[in-house]
Amino acid sequence: MTSRPHLIVRVHAEYARTEQDRSCHFFPVPLDGERPAELRAYCGYRITPGMAEALDHPAGIPCMPCLMTAAINSPQP
Ligand SMILES: [Zn+2]
Repeated sequence: MTSRPHLIVRVHAEYARTEQDRSCHFFPVPLDGERPAELRAYCGYRITPGMAEALDHPAGIPCMPCLMTAAINSPQP
């Protein structure tokens, strides 16, 4: 598995139906030039553009499946 940078994203409150939705999800950064119609988090949660805000760092409750996968996939120093 190759390491890949990721985005930390939180869904806007009006789109979050559960606490799990509202937690910070981690998404693999789209490849250069790729503009997907929807993004899929490591945990499988899907968003479309405008549904969420990108964060500089995790805020609030992290999505644990996303956090674990992102930690494994982070570039090693
Ligand atoms: Zn997640």
